[in-house]
Amino acid sequence: MSQKLLKLIHKENLNLSSDLYQFERSDGFPFEFVGGQYVILNVGNDNEGKPIKRAYSILSSDSKTNSFQICVKRLGTGKASSILPELKLGEELEYSGPWGKFVGDPTWPSPGFSLVLATDTGITTLAGLLLSKKFSGRLDSTITVWLKTKEEDFLSENKLREILSEISNFPTIFQIPSISDPNRISSALEIFKSILGDCTVPENAFLSGDGNILREVRSELVRLGTLESRIGMEAFFNTQRNPSQAVSLG
Ligand SMILES: Cc1cc2nc3c(=O)[nH]c(=O)nc-3n(C[C@H](O)[C@H](O)[C@H](O)COP(=O)(O)OP(=O)(O)OC[C@H]3O[C@@H](n4cnc5c(N)ncnc54)[C@H](O)[C@@H]3O)c2cc1C
Repeated sequence: MSQKLLKLIHKENLNLSSDLYQFERSDGFPFEFVGGQYVILNVGNDNEGKPIKRAYSILSSDSKTNSFQICVKRLGTGKASSILPELKLGEELEYSGPWGKFVGDPTWPSPGFSLVLATDTGITTLAGLLLSKKFSGRLDSTITVWLKTKEEDFLSENKLREILSEISNFPTIFQIPSISDPNRISSALEIFKSILGDCTVPENAFLSGDGNILREVRSELVRLGTLESRIGMEAFFNTQRNPSQAVSLG
């Protein structure tokens, strides 16, 4: 099978910790995807000659297929996130995708109330879903929440307002402790509990970002009555459960 390539057509440094990239298919065909899906980019080889392949959620609307955008956090020591800022306009990267069967399923979300919750960099999936064709008629019955550390981390609120300017739903933003803080998960869960205390149990949910928080949120949703089959989840980091971090909601 021939190699699939993307060409970088625009990039914007947003702040010290993030960059926005816009790609188009090198073969000139439209890039078809469903909002909330992601691509896997091969950004080059590591020191041992192993390809560095990383997933990035598409944050632009699926109604625009001539190009799409991703936003990548600079992690300092991260391999891909250090290489990507050096990419020049017109350069090409091998890719696969779009991936993400759950959001790609035309039967999800089912009718009823939906929750879309993101932590940290997971806001990219949240934006992709909110801007998607499938959510366009459902924004009034969707509650959206972004749990982030500091205002200056990753995307600022102003930048997010710009990205979501064409839609009526803007996420409620809550500040949570930093990734290394031992109180982070319990604090995120307290916030989550207080939000759900005031509304109906969601029929559908999509969770993206820190796996340690998302697993606890998912358990709580199931406990409240959301069907597990209607809860989608993409852990961007902390993908495996760490036994020392289990939290009880009380
Ligand atoms: C489905 C999916 C979608 C994703 N979408 C995005 C996206 O839209 N934007 C984005 O920036 N990243 C996204 N990621 C994370 C991305 O794939 C890489 O893991 C990230 O860019 C780090 O790669 P790296 O090579 O720079 O770091 P690596 O050399 O792989 O190592 C860095 C370490 O940092 C951890 N890490 C990854 N992300 C974070 C974070 N936000 N905060 C703290 N630690 C982290 C990794 O788990 C790893 O342990 C997504 C991941 C998945 C699975």
